[in-house]
Order: sequence, then structure tokens, then C-alpha cells
Amino acid sequence: MTLGRFAPSPTGILHLGNLRTALASWLSARKGGGRWILRMEDVDGLRCRRNLGEAQLRDLAALGLESDVPVVWQSEHSQTYREALARLHGAHRIYPCICTRKDLQALASAPHTEDGLRPYPGHCRDRVWEGFDRALRLRLPEGPLTWEDRQLGSQVDDPGSLTGDPLLFRRDGCFAYHLAVVVDDGAQGVTEVVRGADLRFVTATQIRLQEALGLPRPAYAHLGMVMAPDGSRLGKRAGALGLEALGARRITPEECLGWLGWSLGCLERPMPCAAAELVEAFNWSRVPTGEVRVPETWA
Ligand code: GLU
Repeated sequence: MTLGRFAPSPTGILHLGNLRTALASWLSARKGGGRWILRMEDVDGLRCRRNLGEAQLRDLAALGLESDVPVVWQSEHSQTYREALARLHGAHRIYPCICTRKDLQALASAPHTEDGLRPYPGHCRDRVWEGFDRALRLRLPEGPLTWEDRQLGSQVDDPGSLTGDPLLFRRDGCFAYHLAVVVDDGAQGVTEVVRGADLRFVTATQIRLQEALGLPRPAYAHLGMVMAPDGSRLGKRAGALGLEALGARRITPEECLGWLGWSLGCLERPMPCAAAELVEAFNWSRVPTGEVRVPETWA
């Protein structure tokens, strides 16, 4: 049985792109008679706010998207992440890293990647274990990894090419996104990960981490992005294109669902509806793979 999930970070409002991802994962789970859960990814205490997460849950509920189990807030799960790190340490898969941001910036020889980041060159790979009060990195195995994506088809990635050995634990005590996502998807029994195409590039690293922890691989679907009418990316800042801003323009949650459902290939044209009315027509083969633009009149 499918167990789908939507896992936003409470760093701002949910814009139409986030809501489309949430709806697609909900429809996919419901279509297969499966269950759907919500998880709040608030491990980064500096960027995340409880009140923003609660507002996100209210917006999802206004669309009829509610978790089948009590919502997990990652900030309350430190112990699980610590245990996963201990397991990885037992399997010799993590090592302490003492490189500072300055050290990493000074490494001129490493190739630049698309977004200007350099992959971590593995300077500390041979450092001896010094305990859990150091930054910790996953030792990635060499070589490419293949995986299937419901939207993008067969994918081949070298997990280390963007980040090198990823950080799993920061010196300031914060657990990294990769660790929390993989541990929770495994612990919650998630079988299908639906998210925006902007997160496609983290997938190979997360699969390597699943393998290191002996966790099963979920199915993946990375959705094309929703863009503003002028082609720019949507933001999560206050006033961005979410339910509240649309409500101020007298666009109802039902109209919003109709547009989202149409953009996911469930309706021939946008028309007001409830989420449950879209379930029958939902089919991954009908979900367009490219970007979608918000209607001019909504922005
Ligand atoms: N928390 C992530 C975000 O809001 C999504 C993580 C995921 O879906 O794997 O960008």
C-alpha cells in the first residue's frame, strides 16, 4: 500500500508550487487506496518557526489535505537522528570533519558546480573518530547511481558530484536535512516521495544514505516547478502566492484546487472543486513534466 508524504520546512508560507506538490502526493496516495502523512521539517532551528508550520497546516487543511497520523515535527526527534548517526559510526560510514567554511572556500582546485558550490574534496576522510561533538560527514561510495523517477524517467547521478561527502551533523548540534529526511522516511514507512524538481539533485545522495542505513528505497516523483506569470520563481516570503494572497483577490480554495488539479492533468479546464473529486482522474502518466505558470490574473 502506498504511503505518501508531504514534508515542508516551516520557513515561510506555502506557495502554489508547494501546494501543487502536496496535492499531487495526496492524490497519488489516495488513488492507490493508500495513506498520506504530513511532516514538518524544522531541524534547522535558526530558519524554522513553529507558527509558520501551523499556518502551513491550516492552509493544507483548507484544501482538504490532512495527515492520516499526528504530524511529526522533526525538532522533537533528535534522539532518532542521534541513533542513526551511531549506527553509521558502527558501520564506519561517517567521519569527523574539522574543515571550516573558510578552508572550503580556499580550495581553488575543486571544480565549480552549477550553483557555484564546490563538492567537498574529502580532506578529513582519514581523521580518527573524536565523538559526536564534531561535524560529521557520510563517506560516499564511488561511482554513479541509477534510479527511476515517475516524472523524469530513468536517472543516473554521481551522488558526490554536487556536494561530495555530505554533512549529516553540524558542529553547532544541528542535524542535516539529508539525515532527517532519510531517517524519517524510513521510520515512517514512506513508499513514495513526491517533491519539486528543485530537489531532484539531492536524490542520489539520499539513496546512498538509505543504503548505508539499510532502509528501503521509496518511489520518486519530481514535479515540474510552478512559476510566476513572468517566469520567475515563486518565493515563500510573506505575501507570496499562497492561499492568503489568493483569498485577498477573492480566489477560493476550491478555485485554487481546480487550477492545481487541471495543472496535474486531472481536469480538462480549471473549475472549482474539492480535492476528493480529483482522485479518480489522477494518473502519473497524465501529469505534465514541464514547468507551469500561474494565471496572469492571480499574480
Ligand atoms: N523539507 C523540504 C523542503 O521544504 C522538502 C524535503 C523533501 O520533500 O524531501 O524543501
